[in-house]
Amino acid sequence: MEHARLTYDELLSENNELRLQLEEANDAFQAIRTGQVDALVMQGENGHQLYTLKTADQTYRMFIEKMNEGAVTLNHAGLILYCNSRFAEMVGLPLEKVIGLSFGTFIPCELHDKFNSLIKNAWQNECKQEIELSSKNNMITCLLSCNTLELDDGVALSIILTDLTVQKNAERELKIRNEQLAEAQSITEKLNDELEDTVKSRTADLLISREHFKLLANNIPQMTWTNLPDGKVDFYNQRWFEYTGFKPNKNTDSDWQTIIHPDDRPLSMEKYKSALQTGEVLEVENRYKRHDGVYRWHLNRAIPLRDEAGEIIFWVGTATDIEDQKKELEKKDEFIGIASHELKTPLTSVKGYLQIIGHKKEILPDAVKQYIDKAITSLNKLQWLVNDLLDVSKIQAGRLEYSLHKIDLTELVSLCTENARHIYPSHVFESQPETGLFITGNEERLEQVLMNLISNAVKYSPANKNIIIKANKRRNKVRVSVTDFGIGLSEEQKERIFERFYRVEDKKYMSSGLGMGLYISQVILANNGGKIRVDSKPGKGATFYFDLPVCK
Ligand code: ADP
Repeated sequence: MEHARLTYDELLSENNELRLQLEEANDAFQAIRTGQVDALVMQGENGHQLYTLKTADQTYRMFIEKMNEGAVTLNHAGLILYCNSRFAEMVGLPLEKVIGLSFGTFIPCELHDKFNSLIKNAWQNECKQEIELSSKNNMITCLLSCNTLELDDGVALSIILTDLTVQKNAERELKIRNEQLAEAQSITEKLNDELEDTVKSRTADLLISREHFKLLANNIPQMTWTNLPDGKVDFYNQRWFEYTGFKPNKNTDSDWQTIIHPDDRPLSMEKYKSALQTGEVLEVENRYKRHDGVYRWHLNRAIPLRDEAGEIIFWVGTATDIEDQKKELEKKDEFIGIASHELKTPLTSVKGYLQIIGHKKEILPDAVKQYIDKAITSLNKLQWLVNDLLDVSKIQAGRLEYSLHKIDLTELVSLCTENARHIYPSHVFESQPETGLFITGNEERLEQVLMNLISNAVKYSPANKNIIIKANKRRNKVRVSVTDFGIGLSEEQKERIFERFYRVEDKKYMSSGLGMGLYISQVILANNGGKIRVDSKPGKGATFYFDLPVCK
């Protein structure tokens, strides 16, 4: 009632006075807390009094205040007598509001039983336990370390609270990681199991296919082997050992070279080395010595097996016995040789008789004269054919022999051109050979080559009738060429036309011939130190040419 009588100004001044006292009290409280003072003077009912802090220990108080842990003292009723700033921060309240509150306020309801039994126990014994603390915004897991403290006013319970949030988070993270690791491990194990299964089944497949391959390789009539990319042999089949008489385990890498017939070895080795270098299929015929010392002809073929990148993994080689076929061929060649030889003499005499009759022109009717000319033309063709057959059999037997001497190629080319104009009046021949072209060779044989090229040019150019014959000096060689503008040749045909008896199978342009002319020409030129080549495109004609060394 007394207050009601105070004026507004008086109330204002009293309020100010009280605020100042509160600030002073707060400052003093803060100073005590932070250990800045150990004693203070306070205005009491009986004038000023000096209050000293009985438990004052500045270091101790500062230490508690600066600690990272929360620190609290409780009385028996569970009320907070003291706490440090860290605890206030943990529960999210200003310090001055925390003191005096029950500690249980900060424990979630569902944990009260646990908390009560903890506190009960703590008053008896020192103890530690984890518990959740509910702060303003969230829950914090804390480790509570409890001790009783003997104070002047009685016993208090001190609790140090360690925030386990970081540790708990780390534990949680670790748990998640461990779970992920376990999952990854189980996936890896599963994959591993699958892989093992695949490897097992592949190995089984491989074993089967290897056995398959071995069975096949050992039971075919050919000799078979495999070479590594560098040529080293790493497998021979059973047939190889049966034929050679070599012992499987004592076999060395180069055994095969020792049983090649000495005459065939240079060509075989050349082809083998070139195949290894180029990676192209190897094909060569040679004689291999059998275990009883007998040589038999074989056709060798080795094919490279490549991986996806095109690299050679290994070579598969086979040697097929062609001794019997060779013998048959030899017999055929021998027969051709004898037959053509036997045909040659009667042919020459028939031609001679016809020529004699032809000379008696005045007593013969015109029709007979014409028949005689036609018969001579046919006989000439027959003679060429027989001569070619004879040449081929001589080449096969290695008996195509003729003498070499200095010849005037300019003259020879002119002579052949003249002959051609006479024999093939249907075509136009253009030829201006360079003068003074001398070479060493056989005149008759070179004439045979040139006439064969000219007759081919005529035969295979039914539409465009122009033919160009050239002879020029190029450094120390003479080049002779015959060009036509006829049907021409494909790439594949160009590679094969010099083989014996090869003829292009084109019914549209089939003309007489046995595929011997170019084969013979090639051998003759090789004997003269030359080589025949061809430039051609289908439908664009062809140029056959050869170079021979100039005579010094
Ligand atoms: P042939 O007696 O069959 O003419 P050759 O050995 O002289 O035998 O020629 C072999 C093959 O080459 C011929 O059958 C022909 O297909 C081809 N040939 C030769 N010369 C020419 C050419 N000038 N133009 C086109 N093809 C040719």
